[in-house]
Amino acid sequence: MATSPDTPPAAAPRRKPSRHRGEGQWAKGHFTPLNGNEQFKKDDDGLNVRTRIETIYSQRGFDSIDPNDLRGRMRWWGLYTQRKPGIDGGKTAVLEPEELDDEYFMLRVRIDGGRLTTEQLRVIGEISQEFARGTADLTDRQNIQYHWIRIEDVPEIWRRLEGVGLSTTEACGDTPRVILGSPVAGIAENEIIDGSAAIDEIQRRFIGNPDFSNLPRKFKTAISGSPQLDVAHEINDIAFVGVHHPEHGPGFDLWVGGGLSTNPKLGVRLGAWVPLDEVPDVYGGVIGIFRDYGYRRLRTRARLKFLVADWGPEKFRQILEDEYLQRKLTDGPPPEQPTGTWRDHLGVHRQRDGRFYVGFAPRVGRVDGTTLTKIAEVADAHGSGRLRTTAEQKMIVLDVTEDQVESLVSALEALDLRVTPSPFRRGTMACTGIEFCKLAIVETKARGASLIDELERRIPEFDQPITININGCPNACARIQVADIGLKGQLVLDDEGNQVEGYQVHLGGALGLEAGFGRKVRGLKVTATELPDYIERVIKRFEVQRADGERFAT
Ligand code: SF4
Repeated sequence: MATSPDTPPAAAPRRKPSRHRGEGQWAKGHFTPLNGNEQFKKDDDGLNVRTRIETIYSQRGFDSIDPNDLRGRMRWWGLYTQRKPGIDGGKTAVLEPEELDDEYFMLRVRIDGGRLTTEQLRVIGEISQEFARGTADLTDRQNIQYHWIRIEDVPEIWRRLEGVGLSTTEACGDTPRVILGSPVAGIAENEIIDGSAAIDEIQRRFIGNPDFSNLPRKFKTAISGSPQLDVAHEINDIAFVGVHHPEHGPGFDLWVGGGLSTNPKLGVRLGAWVPLDEVPDVYGGVIGIFRDYGYRRLRTRARLKFLVADWGPEKFRQILEDEYLQRKLTDGPPPEQPTGTWRDHLGVHRQRDGRFYVGFAPRVGRVDGTTLTKIAEVADAHGSGRLRTTAEQKMIVLDVTEDQVESLVSALEALDLRVTPSPFRRGTMACTGIEFCKLAIVETKARGASLIDELERRIPEFDQPITININGCPNACARIQVADIGLKGQLVLDDEGNQVEGYQVHLGGALGLEAGFGRKVRGLKVTATELPDYIERVIKRFEVQRADGERFAT
């Protein structure tokens, strides 16, 4: 059943259509006017495009694809057209979408909780080599993305992914996206609670479910019982963060309304403690509120964060309790400040069963099909066949016995995957950028990789935690606002007055219990060529001026 503004799903409170224009909230009867996105979602559920891909588009080719499917509904199955090669960033905002569209696709594989087996990773690597010209990027939402995908190959790719329990269902679009989970769930010595069972149940009940496939916009989820706060919970639409309740024991603290992009907001606590087995119901209530009360009139105000900001946490909790759960939630404590300096689990760490996990870093999440296949081989030879992706574009091999650790570290390092990386490799992330993204203005991945190499060469002694996040446009796919140094891609003027690729600099952002957005230093823009010089200067000034124990962001 396709949900639409005329036929709100059964769970939505039914109201008469309102004469007032409103913000497009279904629960208040504001069903019209519809913007273009709401119209195509009303016309047909995004999930239904799969049948057309399998029976028509993959048979007849790119030119047979309906434009509303091409630029709209195909996202419900993880597909975006990629940017036509050779179009410079100055044309991004000028050209029509069809002029930017290549006839190849980005395809996103969702990896809920970041949990992978070596069998799954091998299949991902083989697909990359056979259908994606070897591309495969680790994203900062624990997914893996391909490029250069032809529509003709999509059904076969789905067959292979689904054959090993992976999917691209609702990896993009106005849907419940991948569920972030602690990359060390179930194994870490210091874990408060393992959220894996809740991730599985949410997947089973809500992903690919037509009752929740027409949301006002994307809906991002994070669940972690790690005291290291390792899933960027502050910037998700809903987050469950592990806490010890003084009377009830381990459970989750509930957060809602975080999100970055052009109008960033940190999530807020509802002050509620949720036991593990109630997480899926509470998730259902919050996603229900978003579907029913979320703003649909303007895309720029359609994320849950705007509704949370307008209602405030008390009203949000009350509506969740009264209209969706029909019971009161238990009050609970906030999470504690993590003791570690990094959240990413890189390096060698003892598991609670006595074995070890080993986290490693490629550069800015860029790997390739051959490397992924080799990682699977190496993990099979040294571990139990389990791996995890992280929310920092990194990976972890689990279940390594002590006598295998050294050999595993050597094998990973031989693939240029660093177990003890420099702070620059460890802390630098980059979004897709102009190589493939239609919204991009500047290059990101290659520049991030060369920046890492350059900083390692110039400041080899630097050993402090630092995050350098690089975006190709004003969106926030690489979380620039919460980085120590956030770089927002744009065109800038060089010394001769020429328009060249460069970045607006944001300084001093952070996640954690002292989370905040970096300051956009007025007028502080650097050209891409000046970038290594600029960052070297900032870091050297910090080293000279810092007080004992002060970390970069403080
Ligand atoms: Fe594309 Fe901009 Fe997102 Fe980078 S931040 S992937 S350029 S939309």
